[in-house]
Amino acid sequence: MHSFVQPIARSRLAAAARRAAAARPARGLSSSSSSSSAPAPRSTQLSRFPAKQGLYDPALEKDSCGVGLVAHLKGVPSRAIVKDAGLALVNMEHRGGCGCDPQSGDGAGIQTALPHDFFARVARDEASIKLPAPGAYAAGNIFLPVDADAAQKAKDLLVHAVKAQGLEVLGWRKPPTDNSTLGAMSVETEPLIEQLFVAKPAALSSTDFERELYMARRVAENGAKALGPALDDFYVCTLSGRTITYKGQLTTAQVFEYYSDLRQDDYMSHMALVHSRFSTNTFPSWPRAQPNRMLCHNGEINTLKGNKNMLTSREGVAHSTYFGERTAQLFPLASDDHSDSGNFDMCVEMLALAGGRPLHEAVMMMIPEAWQRNAELPEWKRAFYEFQSCAMEPWDGPAMMAFTDGRFVGANLDRNGLRPCRFYVTKDDHVILASEVGVVAHLKEEEVVRKGRLEPGRMFLIDFEKGGIIDDLALKQEVAAARPYAEWVKAGLVRLSEWVTTKQAAGEIAAAPSDAPTMPSTHVLNAAGYTREHLEMILRPMATGKEPLGSMGVDTPLAVLSSMPRMPSHYFKQLFAQVTNPPIDPIREASVMSLACPVGPEANLLDCGPSTCRRLVVDEPVLTLEAMDALLTTTYKGWSATTIDTTFPVADARSGGGSALRAAIGRICEQASAAVSSGAPLIVLSDRAMSETQMAVPSLLATGAVHQALIAAKTRTNVGLMVDTADAKEVHDFATLVGYGADGVCPRVAYSAMGAMAVKDGVAPSTAMSKYQKAVSFGILKVMSKMGISTVQSYKGAQIFEAVGLGDEVINVCFTGSTSRLKGIGFDVLTADALRYHDAAYPQGGRTPDFLNFGDYHWRDGGEAHYNTPAAMVALQLAARTNARSAYDAYSALIDEANAGTTIRGLFQIGKDGILPEVPLSEVEPASEIVKRFATGAMSLGSISPETHEALAKAMNALGGRSNTGEGGEDPLRFADNRRSAIKQVASGRFGVTSNYLTNADELQIKMAQGAKPGEGGELPGYKVTELIGKTRGTTPGVGLISPPPHHDIYSIEDLAQLIYDLKSANSEARISVKLVSEVGVGVVAAGVAKAKADHIVISGGDGGTGAAVWTSIKHAGMPVEIGLAEAHQTLVLNGLRSRVVLQADGQLKSGRDVVVAALLGGEEFGFATGPLIALGCIMMRKCHLNTCPVGVATQDEELRKKFEGQPEHVVNFLWMVAEEVRGYMSQLGFRSMSEMIGRTDRLSVDPAKLHAKSATLDLSPILMSAQALNPESPMFKTMAQDHGIADRLDFKLLPQVRAAIDAGTRVTVESPIVNIDRSFGAIISNYLSKRHGEAGMPAGSVRFVLKGHAGQSLGFVLARGISVSVEGDANDYAGKGLSGGELVVFPSSELDESIRTNAHDHMIVGNTSLYGATDGSAFFRGRAGERFCVRNSGAVAVVEGVGDHGCEYMTGGRCVVLGSTGNNFAAGMSGGIAYVLDEEGTFHRRCNMEMVSLSSVADSQADMAELRSYVEAHAAKTGSVRAEQLLSNWEASVGKFVKVLPNDYARVLAERAALSALGGGASAGKAQTA
Ligand code: SF4
Repeated sequence: MHSFVQPIARSRLAAAARRAAAARPARGLSSSSSSSSAPAPRSTQLSRFPAKQGLYDPALEKDSCGVGLVAHLKGVPSRAIVKDAGLALVNMEHRGGCGCDPQSGDGAGIQTALPHDFFARVARDEASIKLPAPGAYAAGNIFLPVDADAAQKAKDLLVHAVKAQGLEVLGWRKPPTDNSTLGAMSVETEPLIEQLFVAKPAALSSTDFERELYMARRVAENGAKALGPALDDFYVCTLSGRTITYKGQLTTAQVFEYYSDLRQDDYMSHMALVHSRFSTNTFPSWPRAQPNRMLCHNGEINTLKGNKNMLTSREGVAHSTYFGERTAQLFPLASDDHSDSGNFDMCVEMLALAGGRPLHEAVMMMIPEAWQRNAELPEWKRAFYEFQSCAMEPWDGPAMMAFTDGRFVGANLDRNGLRPCRFYVTKDDHVILASEVGVVAHLKEEEVVRKGRLEPGRMFLIDFEKGGIIDDLALKQEVAAARPYAEWVKAGLVRLSEWVTTKQAAGEIAAAPSDAPTMPSTHVLNAAGYTREHLEMILRPMATGKEPLGSMGVDTPLAVLSSMPRMPSHYFKQLFAQVTNPPIDPIREASVMSLACPVGPEANLLDCGPSTCRRLVVDEPVLTLEAMDALLTTTYKGWSATTIDTTFPVADARSGGGSALRAAIGRICEQASAAVSSGAPLIVLSDRAMSETQMAVPSLLATGAVHQALIAAKTRTNVGLMVDTADAKEVHDFATLVGYGADGVCPRVAYSAMGAMAVKDGVAPSTAMSKYQKAVSFGILKVMSKMGISTVQSYKGAQIFEAVGLGDEVINVCFTGSTSRLKGIGFDVLTADALRYHDAAYPQGGRTPDFLNFGDYHWRDGGEAHYNTPAAMVALQLAARTNARSAYDAYSALIDEANAGTTIRGLFQIGKDGILPEVPLSEVEPASEIVKRFATGAMSLGSISPETHEALAKAMNALGGRSNTGEGGEDPLRFADNRRSAIKQVASGRFGVTSNYLTNADELQIKMAQGAKPGEGGELPGYKVTELIGKTRGTTPGVGLISPPPHHDIYSIEDLAQLIYDLKSANSEARISVKLVSEVGVGVVAAGVAKAKADHIVISGGDGGTGAAVWTSIKHAGMPVEIGLAEAHQTLVLNGLRSRVVLQADGQLKSGRDVVVAALLGGEEFGFATGPLIALGCIMMRKCHLNTCPVGVATQDEELRKKFEGQPEHVVNFLWMVAEEVRGYMSQLGFRSMSEMIGRTDRLSVDPAKLHAKSATLDLSPILMSAQALNPESPMFKTMAQDHGIADRLDFKLLPQVRAAIDAGTRVTVESPIVNIDRSFGAIISNYLSKRHGEAGMPAGSVRFVLKGHAGQSLGFVLARGISVSVEGDANDYAGKGLSGGELVVFPSSELDESIRTNAHDHMIVGNTSLYGATDGSAFFRGRAGERFCVRNSGAVAVVEGVGDHGCEYMTGGRCVVLGSTGNNFAAGMSGGIAYVLDEEGTFHRRCNMEMVSLSSVADSQADMAELRSYVEAHAAKTGSVRAEQLLSNWEASVGKFVKVLPNDYARVLAERAALSALGGGASAGKAQTA
């Protein structure tokens, strides 16, 4: 009997299913019904998403996946292709997700060509349909409502629509399905499935037949929508004459089991796409399974909202030549019912079928490669992409798209290469392409002729008619040559920079800014919302070209809680990537970023001609004064701007309040619409007319409203929108303006202020202005990049913000579609605030105004409220030192008072109506139990002093709580005593993460984001990297350290699942924690994290964090912990996942009351950071990043460290009294244990006495919604263990064979096959070895594994010293991740064709991100590695025969030898170690990022030559490398071709060391630095 599931996979899946079934929690999902009055999302029988309720919003759900493709190059159909695709699907099960019901997968499916023989047979036998010849009919799988009437209506609609296009319906067939293995949820939501056959009219071409089928489907879909919810479950998987999709809410193994069609021997195809989905929820959705109609997607589109808005707007001018008047029947072009992948699919389909673009060209246009900053790009390619950028903005985000229209099948990778894609080509013309290698395990190595990968921005295409692969270059040449793009671009594009210089040359505008600018008057500054702090703390430092830094988080209220006036931008928080997509490093990976953008009228998207690129290119969105002058006063090559005054009478505002502001906005929108109607290509919104009698509509309100009004009118793409404003000053102002639709912003008052300050400071005004522009532009890049967006063109209008405290009327008019969960102020309050600014600018009686100074950044008496008040700090330190409860009570009272004015929790009252069911205090669980739930925050050794770090550890160990290493590692000497931190953090920098480090932990915490700067990496300046810090981080003292913004092994949810699996393998006794930061959507992310098998989730507030960051991030990113905590708790409960994870609250918790509120909102454990630091002596000087902390808390300076007076007892005293205070509340509330209190929001209510005019507008009920009511059967806290599925690991099978040798310290060798589902091989054995032998490990090669096959992800994860692993075959991503002294060797199979083995340097041997965070050991790879090789390597030696992009990025130590070509951006951020690169072409310097390194010839140094030779010899010996042998055979000539890459900082420190040693000094460079 044939099985489509490999025995090993099947048994493992079955075991996993049994385990999970046994642990399955009871849960009651109430389908679509909800008492919520919030707008209902699409929630149907097939898609059982709950309604938006509490803080849960189904629109925020995410997914990511594994993708595979099997095809015959010549288009020869076979049964083997379908079967192999099925195997590939099953072997990617670990890349898919599974909810609380293990038999209900997240969705999987397969798309093939129409299997004619099979269809002809079953249509005849089962439905009496005689199908015409292949190519003369179409077929489609249709999901229908289970209700018979509704199903019939849906069928009628589709039949009618098909006939309306002049096509003949041949009949329906019911494909047999078997739901006996499906989980309850899949069965509950299972649709009726029928198959429709449609005949092709003889006169219609195959392509036009596809078009008519597309039209028929769209007409039927729109018809069904019009008939209301009864037909919501009508869904057409595909209806095509070329391809067909079988999919559903299935696990990968269930796809072939469920659809018996797929198991039939005559079901054959020449290609098959497969997809395994991992969603962030447990709610079933049959339609969201993939493949979609034309593609399947692994990744996430970050800019979806903006892309959808623009598509809607483009409907205004979209006209298909083929469809003519029928074009409008295809609208809408985007849908809220679909995911990002679904919308992408819709757009591709529209471009291909309605627009006539080849499918692959449509994908190239939507996911362009990084062309803007690539100096090596050929002109023809630049012209092609520049042209396409005029038609549409990129759909930005991590993306591997596999696509097909039957004629072509291909795959495309995003510009940053953030998803893996490997492929094999075989001798018999088959291609197997997938997220992993080895997914078709039966494939014999001798059959393979090519092993490759898809590179960033590249496309792989098979043309079945031509019978072969068209490589990226040839393909793009062919596409680019199809039209005269360069000619069109040259003739059509106008650049704003050219406009400006032309007008300057003609004397029509000023040639340069004034060299004697005056400071804008206080009238102007106050009216525009400037404060003294803005000028002194934010703008003045920007004359250096950089935004200033702050530290210790933010302790002032949200705008809506502030009693001070605030600008509209302050009501927005920047979103950031965490888990489901990665942020980007805008400095080290600048090559993929771009600020340039074409603006102005777009042409018809469904046409492609010279009119497409008649647009204006703006190089960056921050416009100079001269550019605005040119726009306002001149015309150029047919371009001119219409200016709209955005001011309105102050008298109107006084008399009409919000209505006046609303009316002014309405007038501005009308004028904008009129300008567009009259053909204006550009609009400038200008507030220059502001005066004593005219006040400005805040620029963000005016811009957002015009942008939305034009989208609604489908005219936004007809015009460019510029802003000339006084009120844009901080980076966040610009980020919001562009994020809500501005094409360009000129901050004229900020420029004047910069110029005037520059004169005072002796700097040329023009220099200061230009540096300010640079600083703001970089700030925008940073805001974009923290959300993982690469280009301003995609960011613009993408609305990557959450509003907090804005009411519906404001959102609906100005920021349509933005999330504002707590509602809030309307135009009345905005007008009142604007009037307060105006009145401060023009005081009554003609008084001279005082410059505003609210004390927003630094506390000042009578200014903005802060919750770290001087009095509270003094009180805390007194309480901590004296251990006096009375002192603590005084402190607590001060904190409660501060909370009332600054935080959401401060607005709550605990207990209702004063009637509380008290229990005696003596019956409340003791403080000794409560403190076990306490942890101190993740503060690295490096950011704080060793004394502070150890004091925190001792205190928490004494209490039975947990301290956290932070991301800097920990000295192994501390592991055995009371200085050991129970929580060992694993952050993106991977500093000091070794097998031994992981082994000595009770909890392993993956830091996904940091409160003070979510979406950003950290930097530790060289002067803080002392001997000790260098040792624990495995880096060079004195050399600064950079943490990448993303974990380079986590670009999506399934990547996080893999790291969790890695860590659990490295220490199965430790719980795995994932640290998230509060933002909208953190609930669905938390659900995904729980599905990824985390045991513990931390929700951090965006206001916490001790680290240094730019003020924009500290102030404007991340939400309060109360919101994120409640959202995570509610969403986990709703998903039935709450029982699987501990939820920890973290974010400026300072008192027992804070803990109680957090518990009532769903927190089980509680993190403290600034409180313990203050207890240890911190006086909030906020100089932590400067190394000048006066109390020795946050410094590495030896003299300042002596001033540290903190004692562990101070922290113990403080936290013990917090716990006692908690007990007091529990007694009053009637709770005997903490567990009883968790999630009891019924004990919280809003205290009306604490509200003011702004805060009274908030609706806090979503935070206070009872999670229990959402899912009455769910536990409110962790009650069950996660099943990590590591029991059947290959490691465990082999451990018995090596255990005795490890115990005895002897040698052993074990042989074994390995397959791709054998992941993290070596981690468990390393853990065992580390327990026995600690950091020292065993002598090299003591434990040898000789493996053969295709190793799964993370081969050799933290492989400990003494273990060697050799693999004959190949390996997937993350090989050698965290290598900890072991040896890893991978070389091609001896069964491979001789030509491949000889030319191994041309073929892939290991995947992406290999050696990430390696600390020690050696790796030899005979073949090429993917992207990001040796990223953050700090000590390992690695030899490889070629690498992709970003090699050696952030490397701090060790050696990397590349015996072949490299990709781009090599050595970006590399601060230590040495790389030797074979540069045969002499072109390496072009691909190397020279910012931090220098290049030299290896031949210049005998020592270097000797070192390099030793590595090459070792490589030859261990891998049998032909390449190495060839080089060695002519070493004299070979060595001359090697380039040495040496980091400048590292070279400096080496030189200093050498000088010291020559002088006989023993001091380290680090100490010399510090001194
Ligand atoms: S006292 Fe030290 S630790 Fe505290 S804020 Fe100031 S510099 Fe930072």
